[in-house]
Amino acid sequence: MNNHKIDILDRNLEELKSDMINIGEKAFRGEQIIQWLAKGVNSFAEMTNLSKALIEKLEERYTIGTLHQLKRLISNDKHTIKYLFLLHDNNIIECVVMKYNHGNTICLSTQVGCAMGCSFCASATGGLVRNLTAGEMMAQVLAVNNDIMELGWTEGSPAIGGIVLMGSGEPLDNYDNTLRFLHQIHEPKGFNMGYRNITLSTCGLVPKIHALADEGLSINLAISLHAADDETRKKIMKVAKVYSVNDIVNASRRYFEKTGRRVTFEYALIKAVNDAPSQAQELTAILKGFPCHVNLIPLNENSHSSQKRSNEEAIKLFTFILKSAGINVTCRREMGQDIQGACGQLKIDYLK
Ligand code: SAH
Repeated sequence: MNNHKIDILDRNLEELKSDMINIGEKAFRGEQIIQWLAKGVNSFAEMTNLSKALIEKLEERYTIGTLHQLKRLISNDKHTIKYLFLLHDNNIIECVVMKYNHGNTICLSTQVGCAMGCSFCASATGGLVRNLTAGEMMAQVLAVNNDIMELGWTEGSPAIGGIVLMGSGEPLDNYDNTLRFLHQIHEPKGFNMGYRNITLSTCGLVPKIHALADEGLSINLAISLHAADDETRKKIMKVAKVYSVNDIVNASRRYFEKTGRRVTFEYALIKAVNDAPSQAQELTAILKGFPCHVNLIPLNENSHSSQKRSNEEAIKLFTFILKSAGINVTCRREMGQDIQGACGQLKIDYLK
């Protein structure tokens, strides 16, 4: 990015309107610009309903996004694409798009690296580098949307029907920029993504879950629980030393009560760590009476951790125990393993 220029994708509609007034234009130009940006244009010259003079003023002041595609990998079944993007400061982020029957879903990064330090997660390697701006999150959506439209993934526009904040980073550790992004991507005059089609995943930053519940957005919440007791959780997640399972589940119940959105608990099954039948029973006990969903994910093994995925028998038994207790459970068979779909893995290999 040119240092004195502002990333226009980081501006919301109200700000753009006041920017327009400040440069001697009418406020409604802000609406026209945001409509173009939502279409994924890469230059101001493409904004054909603006005067030449305005286009020049925009070019002087702003850039449109600051991402550069470094690499794109398409899975063998052609249902998952992984992107590596270069940022203006030479940092690299990852982003994945998945084709589902119910629509195309993008998995975005919210930070470069991550401070949470979960033992099994490749994004934690090297810690947190920096937060992404809302504009950098917008740019991921727009770049991928353009790309899959070109690939013909859908007739519709936009081609992206859902967003999950499950890439690198902890979205609630970058709270302000993430909230700004959520408002911007939802902007009815812009990209107009419904909040109900957005899922935010967190390792369980309790005060921030409460804050999010109070925002009044109907986004879905996913909690990376991975253990039903604090002792086990502390072995694999640093954040468990700060917030207890009990506090997390209570915050999740409150989130559900406030928003009416069902909460999903993610549980990566790790051999001999959290996959015993007694641990499944403990999970059913803590979730009793809570209309939630449990998503079991057999661990994606990666080179920086010696932890192994549970074997098939353990996975089946764990699922059976939850089901028998009336818990709504699915077991995610991961997509895109041949392109290192799990977070942080492709970037690590690329940097090597
Ligand atoms: N920081 C957020 C979102 C990013 S991670 C969070 O913790 O929820 C997205 C999900 O992938 C989380 O549930 C995370 O725990 C999980 N995950 C990370 N590495 C994994 C691995 N190797 N195998 C299975 N799931 C993994």
